[in-house]
Amino acid sequence: MNATPPKHAPLTQFPVRDGELLVGGTPVSQLAERVGQTPFYAYDRAAISARITTLKAVLPPRISLHYAIKANPMPALLAHMVRLIDGLDVASAGEMRAALDSGMTPAEISFAGPGKRPTELRQAVAAGVLLNVESETELTRIAEASQSLGLPARVALRVNPDFELKSSGMKMGGGPKPFGIDAERIPAALAQVASLGLQFEGFHLFAGSQNLIADAIIEAQAKSFALAMRLAANAPAPLRSLNLGGGFGVPYFPGEARLDITPIGQHLHALDAQLAQDHPTARLVLELGRYLVAEAGVYVCRVQDIKVSRGTTYLITDGGLHHHLAASGNFGQVIRKNYPALLGNKADTVTSGRYNAVGPLCTPLDILGNDLELPEAEIGDLLVVLQSGAYGLTASPAAFLSHPGIPEVLV
Ligand SMILES: *Cc1c(COP(=O)(O)O)cnc(C)c1O
Repeated sequence: MNATPPKHAPLTQFPVRDGELLVGGTPVSQLAERVGQTPFYAYDRAAISARITTLKAVLPPRISLHYAIKANPMPALLAHMVRLIDGLDVASAGEMRAALDSGMTPAEISFAGPGKRPTELRQAVAAGVLLNVESETELTRIAEASQSLGLPARVALRVNPDFELKSSGMKMGGGPKPFGIDAERIPAALAQVASLGLQFEGFHLFAGSQNLIADAIIEAQAKSFALAMRLAANAPAPLRSLNLGGGFGVPYFPGEARLDITPIGQHLHALDAQLAQDHPTARLVLELGRYLVAEAGVYVCRVQDIKVSRGTTYLITDGGLHHHLAASGNFGQVIRKNYPALLGNKADTVTSGRYNAVGPLCTPLDILGNDLELPEAEIGDLLVVLQSGAYGLTASPAAFLSHPGIPEVLV
C-alpha cells in the first residue's frame, strides 16, 4: 500500500526565479517593498488573461461570458476584466455601481440576489440593467419602479430548479432555497411578467459553486437547459438570454484535481446549436467568478515570530483570517484543509520542516496552514498563500480585532 498523503494539484501560474516567486513578473520580496507593507493581496493580470483565453478557446463563440463580481470586486481588476469578458453579474447596488464605473454597457450587466431592496430595484431600472428576479414580490416592486420612472424594466426569472448540482461545494439550487422562484411556480410568474408589462428576456439558473467534476457540471447544464426550454413555452416574449450559471471550481486542497473544461465546452457547443435553432433570438450566458480569478491571486504575509510549543513550530505572521477567512477554513469548509502555501522568498529551497502558520488574532481559528511542509523558516520570510484571487478580502471579517485594512494590487 502506498500511504503517501494527497498533494496539491501542480500550480504553475507563478514562475520562480533566483528563489523568488514571480507575481506579475516581479519577485515577491520586491513586490512587498513596492506595496510598502505586508500583508497584501496581489493579482496577476497576465494569469487572468491567460485563464480567459484558454476558456474561450473551448466555448462556443456565441456564448456570453460573464464575470460575477462578488468573487473579487477590486476596481482595477474589474477594469482589466471588462476588456476580456462580455458582461458582468452583480448582486448588490454597490456592485452595480462598480460594474457601471468599469465601463461595461448596462445591456450586459445582470443583477441577481434575493432580498433586493426597493431602492436597489429602482436603481437597477434607472440604470437599464437586466434584473434576475428572485420572487413574485420583486416583480411587483420592479413594475412600480418602472411606472414611476417611466422606464422599461428588463427582467429574467431566476429559477430554483428541481434538481441539484452534484458534488458541488455550495448548493444554491434545488429543494427549498431562498434563491430564485421554484420551477413549478414559473408559469404563473411569467403570466405576472406579462400582466405587469415588464420586458421579459429570459431565465437564470445557478445550481451551485466550486464544482471540480466536469460530468456533474455537464449534467446540471443539460438539465438546466431542458428545464428552461420547457418553461420557455409559456414565455410572454421571445427568449433573449439563458443564463446557465457557472459553478466551475478550482483545486484548493490536497487531492483535488483540476476541472477538465474541454468536455464542458463540447457540450455547450451542442446546447448552443440547439438554442440557435429553437430560439434564434437567444444566447447562452455563463457566469463565472472564482474560476476566472482565484488562481491568479496570492495573499502575502510576513513571518513576525517563530515559536516552538511542545514540539510544534508556529510561524506567527502578520496575516490571518481577518483578511483571508477562506484559507483559515471558516468560509464553508466542514473539515479544515490547507490552501497551498509556500515561502515566496525561498521558493526553490528544499522543504525541511513542518510548521503551523497562524495570524495575530486571539482565536484558535486564526490558521493559515497546519503542518505545512516548508523550507527552514526565519523571521522576515514571506508566507504566500496561493489560490487566493477569489473570495478573499471582501469575504473576510476585516473589522475583527481592529487591525488596519490592507492593500490589493494588480500586477
Ligand atoms: C456567487 C455567484 C456566482 C459566482 O460563483 P463562482 O463560484 O464564484 O463562480 C455566479 N452567479 C451567481 C448568481 C452567484 O450568486
